[in-house]
Amino acid sequence: MKFQLYKINANNDFEVICKGLAERIYLDGRFTIKYKGEEFETEEQLPDHSATAKVLINKLKEHKVINDFSDIKGIGHRIVHGGERFTQSTIITDEVFMEIKKMITLAPLHNPPAIAAIKAFRNIIAVPNVAVFDTSFHTTISEENYLYSVPYEWYTDHQVRRYGFHGISYRYITNHLAKILEKPVEEVNAVICHLGNGASMCAVKKGKSFDTSMGLTPLEGLIMGTRSGDIDPSIHQYIATETGQDLATITDILNKKSGLLGISGVSSDLRDVFASSKENQRSRLALKMSSKRIAKYLLAYANELDGEVDAIVFTAGIGENSAAMRQLVINNLKILKVDLDPIANEKKYDSEKLISSTRSILPIYAIRTDEEIMICTDTYNLTKK
Ligand code: AMP
Repeated sequence: MKFQLYKINANNDFEVICKGLAERIYLDGRFTIKYKGEEFETEEQLPDHSATAKVLINKLKEHKVINDFSDIKGIGHRIVHGGERFTQSTIITDEVFMEIKKMITLAPLHNPPAIAAIKAFRNIIAVPNVAVFDTSFHTTISEENYLYSVPYEWYTDHQVRRYGFHGISYRYITNHLAKILEKPVEEVNAVICHLGNGASMCAVKKGKSFDTSMGLTPLEGLIMGTRSGDIDPSIHQYIATETGQDLATITDILNKKSGLLGISGVSSDLRDVFASSKENQRSRLALKMSSKRIAKYLLAYANELDGEVDAIVFTAGIGENSAAMRQLVINNLKILKVDLDPIANEKKYDSEKLISSTRSILPIYAIRTDEEIMICTDTYNLTKK
């Protein structure tokens, strides 16, 4: 459980006053809090999310980050799946809470811990809790892009469709790009590559999500740290027959043992894959395959935007930090005449940098995403009196 505490400073800007991380919940519990340039790490009893929420709140008092619980005016939660219902962030009423609970079937891995956290915070402090959904940004995608070519009843009866994820990040990047390009958000057309351990891409048309690579679940699309991304749907059946493994086990392998890890056999972490690529042919293969997959989506999305792309953006752990991966992707865009400036691509930066060369037909940026500030902004806007 990651957290950040914000306050509004004299300039009316949000300022992070403290941040931290609760790890190994259900295991041997570790809690880190960073405050005024100092970092405190302790072992804590974190048997569940309720206990973790209590530790978090008490630590804020213990370190005198807050004087009283009443200093906190609102709590924002990142919720991975909001289905079709939640097209924007919302205050968590009892009814909203029940709706989010119902979506557990769509996101069995992601929604339950978020629900546990909401419940815990609601029990400790009487302030509004706000749900900010990873799916909301993509609720603008049209039928032709969100439907799968399966019986239509799978959609009407079982909600099988593309939902897309990383929407909080895409919204932040779109807003930020509008400022860089000095144009209204409603006019921004871009292809955004959110490349982290989980990775996806988004075609943004007129400031809205037009298409995205993740689907019903975050398994579809790009080759990720441990997720396969796109594969032939028959592989499930074939492997079940070959190995005798059941569907749940195979789905788990596609989520946790595939992707960079599965191909390279070395690691899910891109840094390890690059580091081993000199001696390990499979690491080289993993790099080739993942960069080609990104390029494939990039070209398709540039086409979906009718070629009217204002910019290509790289973000998240890999997109922000790996000049080498950005270069591999751009090298694979053979029919789109874009080009990187190698010096700019390697240069250190704070929040964003232009990395394309003067020869490039469109600008390419690396932009550091900030999902927390989006959650904070929505929470503030929905809870301010
Ligand atoms: P995220 O899920 O956004 O935290 O991204 C995690 C991924 O970013 C991992 O595959 C890391 O290897 C990669 N990453 C983080 N920092 C760097 C870096 N400096 N160079 C290359 N890859 C990085």
